[in-house]
Amino acid sequence: MKYDRHDPFDFAARRHIGPKLSEIDQMLETVGAKSLHALIDETLPPDIRQAEYIDFGVSLTERRSLEKLRATADKNRLLVSLIGQGYHGTTMPPAIQRNIFENPAWYTAYSPYQPEISQGRLEALLNFQTLVCDLTALDVANASLLDEATAAAEAMGMAKRVAKSDRNAFFVDRDCLPQTIAVLKTRAAPLGWEVVVGDPFQDLDPSTVFGALFQYPGVNGAVHDFSDRIAALHAAGALGIVAADPLALILLKAPGEMGADIAVGSMQRYGVPMGYGGPHAAYMATRDAHKRALPGRIVGVSVDTRGNRSYRLALQTREQHIRREKATSNICTSQVLLAVIASMFAVYHGPAGLKAIARRVHRDAVRLAEGLETLGFTVEPAHFFDTITVRVGPFQGVILKSAVENGVNLRKIGTDRIGITVDQRTRPDIVQAVWRAFGGTDLAYDEAYPEPRLPAALERTSEYLTHPIFHMNRAESEMTRYMRRLSDRDLALDRAMIPLGSCTMKLNATAEMLPVSWPEFSELHPFVPEDQALGYKELIDDLSQKLCAITGYDAISMQPNSGAQGEYAGLLAIRGYHLSRGEGHRTVCLIPSSAHGTNPASAQMCGMSVVVVGADAHGNIDVEDFSRKAEQHADKLAACMITYPSTHGVFEARVRELCDIVHRHGGQVYLDGANLNALVGLARPGDIGADVSHLNLHKTFCIPHGGGGPGMGPIGVKAHLIPFLPSDPRTGEAGAVSAAAFGSASILPISWSYCLMMGGRGLTQATRVAILNANYIAARLSGAYSILYAGRAGRVAHECIVDVRPFQKSAGVTVEDIAKRLIDCGFHPPTMSWPVAGTLMIEPTESETKAEIDRFCDAMLAIREEIRAIEEGRMDRANNPLKNAPHTVQDLIGTWERPYSREAACFPSGSLRMDKYWPPVNRVDNAYGDRNLVCSCPPTEAYGEAAE
Ligand SMILES: *Cc1c(COP(=O)(O)O)cnc(C)c1O
Repeated sequence: MKYDRHDPFDFAARRHIGPKLSEIDQMLETVGAKSLHALIDETLPPDIRQAEYIDFGVSLTERRSLEKLRATADKNRLLVSLIGQGYHGTTMPPAIQRNIFENPAWYTAYSPYQPEISQGRLEALLNFQTLVCDLTALDVANASLLDEATAAAEAMGMAKRVAKSDRNAFFVDRDCLPQTIAVLKTRAAPLGWEVVVGDPFQDLDPSTVFGALFQYPGVNGAVHDFSDRIAALHAAGALGIVAADPLALILLKAPGEMGADIAVGSMQRYGVPMGYGGPHAAYMATRDAHKRALPGRIVGVSVDTRGNRSYRLALQTREQHIRREKATSNICTSQVLLAVIASMFAVYHGPAGLKAIARRVHRDAVRLAEGLETLGFTVEPAHFFDTITVRVGPFQGVILKSAVENGVNLRKIGTDRIGITVDQRTRPDIVQAVWRAFGGTDLAYDEAYPEPRLPAALERTSEYLTHPIFHMNRAESEMTRYMRRLSDRDLALDRAMIPLGSCTMKLNATAEMLPVSWPEFSELHPFVPEDQALGYKELIDDLSQKLCAITGYDAISMQPNSGAQGEYAGLLAIRGYHLSRGEGHRTVCLIPSSAHGTNPASAQMCGMSVVVVGADAHGNIDVEDFSRKAEQHADKLAACMITYPSTHGVFEARVRELCDIVHRHGGQVYLDGANLNALVGLARPGDIGADVSHLNLHKTFCIPHGGGGPGMGPIGVKAHLIPFLPSDPRTGEAGAVSAAAFGSASILPISWSYCLMMGGRGLTQATRVAILNANYIAARLSGAYSILYAGRAGRVAHECIVDVRPFQKSAGVTVEDIAKRLIDCGFHPPTMSWPVAGTLMIEPTESETKAEIDRFCDAMLAIREEIRAIEEGRMDRANNPLKNAPHTVQDLIGTWERPYSREAACFPSGSLRMDKYWPPVNRVDNAYGDRNLVCSCPPTEAYGEAAE
């Protein structure tokens, strides 16, 4: 491969890649490499290099890409879907669409691990948790899970932990969504649990189970009171879980009021389009007593150093990045952007608005039922919220077909019934279209309020959304300013580089984002007939082919909707493979000590036992230790999980050897593909010897991070694992890992557009420049800082670890001090204390310009000088700009009594004068927040300005 300055990638990829060609030359000089090719040759081991460019044909310009996406979108047929089954038509208020969903200030933010620069989205998430707690009448909610089915599976796992029961059966209401039942069965199998599906009022024996899940309302519309079932479970030492529709909860008694221990569900119908399956935020809430067993992220209230209220993630010690295989779940990326949208939907409508929506939905369901009864059909159940079932006998096929001809999809139940679910977007003409499909051509839609058919005993009487935030003035000016205020508090990619190692915070190009808003992509129900989703099929097939070409795998499954979920699906494929060969006893998984926390957590969920492998002094996997442990566990070896290039940011030269060792002992190789941004176009996991990988499309393939989700974690596998890929969730059978067949399908146009616009050569160039940018940072910072690990020829991969541990001793400066001081400079801090405690891991990605990278390096070098001043006694060890960082406007008020100037405090090197980012709070006290746990909106005068 010869690097030619006038390669066609220059044109197609030039908007995606930061440094100009002339700057690339300057940067190569700084790193001391003769050419970009020479740098790559020095960096990657020769035995893993791929010989040819990826060939996707001609790359497309932005305009041509959008035209292609448009033509593809037009192949999807957008009908009205009254299929229900967990997905509903809804309207995202335009103010939220433009100001959040389509606003990079919201969608390009990272997960809120650094609270000082995340106050805006943390407040929105606290609103989300408050909303969920109010709707469910439970005490604590998390800040979203991936989808309703996986939330139910997490609840099952939580029930097992909380019940501390040695029973291994879990009861599932047969009225649960089929995709939920499928995912529960998948999750239960490797843990040796049995899922018993049946009628809660006839088949549930509480003394035999550790918990039970009920659907409320049921998939076919029935609304039951589960209070006595839950009481019976409690009496038997088991937990009661209710999967509840949050719109129904506006009118119906809450799960908490039935005694439920846990409630789960999907917030999709709070303004988030169906998106052919996702992304949407699932919710989970529980009682205060069980809060420490709750999976996922929880936002809590704390104070900063001035004692001002601030938000931050609470109880992080439950999570995989700390507890690893003992974590409450493997959840890392969740659905923050969608949770924010759902919370804003509630802020926008308020309790009265939500009640009006819920009532109208119910009225339309009743009107629809009355019309069908007039036509002579039997409608069930007697009481319902939005879903009815019609007995149609032999006419099922005819009616379903006629409905489609009338522009409506209905749900086929068995062979003789049809399900209809009404939603926020149902209008008189839609109701009439359904009647026509049932033969009622001349029924008139009557605006008069019909007699409700909610079960009287289950009508909601308790209050909800009483907090002032949900009683904001209904004027859009107020709402717009609220959303703007929150996003202004945060630092996202639209303002500055986010150099987070392992997270690949790269450009999310607008041309990639636009199609996500198109109704032909966003409004499809995931269970529409295939001939209505031909555009999606084309997109998914082509993207899969491209990802196969990039990775060297034979097939891709788009089902996992996060990286961690991909790990889980991949390990399940390995498990299925071993089982199929009669080797189910293979359950040991070798995982390096430096692995991402999701790896051991996922292995644990697959019933595997984790054996940790150490690293050598250079940060490489200790091959001797690895080999010894593989041999020691040879009889039971299921898999190893390795990350390549490693989480230490180096290309290990002996990676092929590692794969060989595992294969020799009968195991399979899981290669964590989170670092694929360093490989695309240069080397392929499938060629190196790996059997399966997940790809983080929200890292390498440009899906924005959304402030902590959505993501997509498809897996690629070699041919022998294809039979063990996730199966269709609709079947209700074990094998599915997510609620929808293609996970969060509606964000796939982003990754597809990226591939189309970059082309094979552009993608390869991006990888080279990502590696150059990281090596440039390493070169500029070395001398001032020590770079912890490097590969052959002293090169790092696409990220580098800066060791700041020595400054603890020399100056009393911690990694946290440096991270917070970078906020003063206007940067999101790098990844802190992972994979090595007390260090910073920096990943610039290819899309940062040389100017921005230089600004960052200047800031880091200036911070080093501040440390030096402390080391040399010129600056106080306890009272200095690092210890007091980040500085806020509050700091400038009143008399200034610090041994450094205001200017030094607030305008350090790298910070911008005119466009200075001001953090809204000083350093946040994490411990205080965990000691005084508050996870819903506190009553407050601070909201006064927003409230009525
Ligand atoms: C980000 C990451 C993951 C997990 O991906 P999520 O999408 O956050 O679940 C796994 N491994 C590594 C190395 C990662 O960087």
